[in-house]
Amino acid sequence: GREWQLAARPHGWPTPADFALVETPVPEPGPGQILVRNLFLSVDPYMRGRMNDVKSYMPPFGLDRPMDGGAVGRVVASQADGVPVGTHVLHGLGWREYALVDAAKAAVVDPAAAPLSAYLGVLGMTGMTAYVGLLRIAEMAPGETVFVSGAAGAVGSQVGQIAKLKGAARVIGSAGSDEKCAQLVEEYGFDAAFNYKKEPVAQQLAAAAPDGIDVYFDNVGGDHLEAAISALRLNGRAALCGSIAAYNSTEPPPGPRNLGLLVGRRLTLRGFMVGDHHDLQDDFVREVGGWLRDGQLRYRETVTTGIDQAVAAFLGMLRGENSGKAVVALPE
Ligand code: NDP
Repeated sequence: GREWQLAARPHGWPTPADFALVETPVPEPGPGQILVRNLFLSVDPYMRGRMNDVKSYMPPFGLDRPMDGGAVGRVVASQADGVPVGTHVLHGLGWREYALVDAAKAAVVDPAAAPLSAYLGVLGMTGMTAYVGLLRIAEMAPGETVFVSGAAGAVGSQVGQIAKLKGAARVIGSAGSDEKCAQLVEEYGFDAAFNYKKEPVAQQLAAAAPDGIDVYFDNVGGDHLEAAISALRLNGRAALCGSIAAYNSTEPPPGPRNLGLLVGRRLTLRGFMVGDHHDLQDDFVREVGGWLRDGQLRYRETVTTGIDQAVAAFLGMLRGENSGKAVVALPE
C-alpha cells in the first residue's frame, strides 16, 4: 500500500516537495486490530499546523513518518470481536491506502444510512464543529443576526444553515469567490454573502449588516475578526473556530486593533475544540441526521480521486479550490 509521509517541514505555503508518497508492505492485524482499506481520506486545515514542529493541541507529524487524519474504509482483515471483514469504519489513520487500526479506536459507520464520505463532513467532524460552535459556544438564540466567515467551506456552510434552522433572523457569509457567494444565497439559504477578496471586510460587513451582528463564527481570523468585533452588538458573542488566514504565514498576524470594544459592549470571544464536546454527539446526529433526511440541510463535497492526488487536494483546499468538504476518494 501507499502512504503519504512528511518529507520536510514547510515554511510558509507547503510545496509538493515537502511530501513523499511511499510504498510500504500491507500489515497483518494483531489481536484487537483491524486492517482497513481506506475509501475516503479527509484533508483539513488543522493538518497544516501539524506540519510545524511546535507543541499544540495535537502533536506534530513526524518527519519521514506517515501523516494521519480522518478516514473511512472497509475492514479487509480482522482480529477484533464485533468488527468483521466487510464492516465500514471511521478512524484516524488517513493519508494511506491500508490502515492497521486498533478496533477500539475505530467507529463503525453504516453506508446505508449516509454516503461514506458524509462521515468525514456533514455527519462527521466538520459538521459537529459547526453544531458545537454555533449552539454551545456562541449560544445563538432565535431572532439573532449571525455572520460566518469561510462560509462556503465544510464548517461554514453548515453553520449558516443550522443558524437559519434554529431561527436566526439574518445570516451573512463571506467567501473567496462570487460563485461561492451565489451558492451561499441560492443553495444554502443565507440572507446575504460577500466576496472578501473584492473590498475590505469591514466595509462589506457593514453594508450587509447595517444594524450589526449578534454572533460571529470565525473560521478565518485576521481582518475578518477585527471587522466582526466592530460589528458585534451589546452582549455579542464570537465562537473562535480557526484562523486559516494565518496558517501559512511566516509572521504572527496582527491582532485585532479594536479589543477595547469588548468592555462596553460586554462581548465574549470564546475559542473551542470540537473534540471536547463528545457529549453533544447524539444530539448532533439526531438533529443533523433529521435535517438531512427532510432535505432541509444541503451539503457539497469536493472529491479528488486517487492517493497520488491527496497532497494536491490538501493544498487546493488551503487555496480555496474546494466548496464544502474536501475529501480524497480511493476507489477499490
Ligand atoms: P474549509 O472547507 O472551510 O476549507 C478551507 C477554506 O478556507 C477554503 O475553501 C478557503 O475558502 C478558505 N480560506 C483559505 N485561505 C483563506 C484566507 N486567507 N482568508 C479567508 N478564507 C480563506 O475547511 P473546514 O471547514 O474544514 O475548516 C474551516 C475552519 O474551521 C478552519 O479554520 C479550521 O481550522 C477550523 N476547524 C476548527 C475546529 C475546531 O475544533 N476548533 C474543527 C474543524 C475545523 P475561500 O475560497 O472562501 O477563501
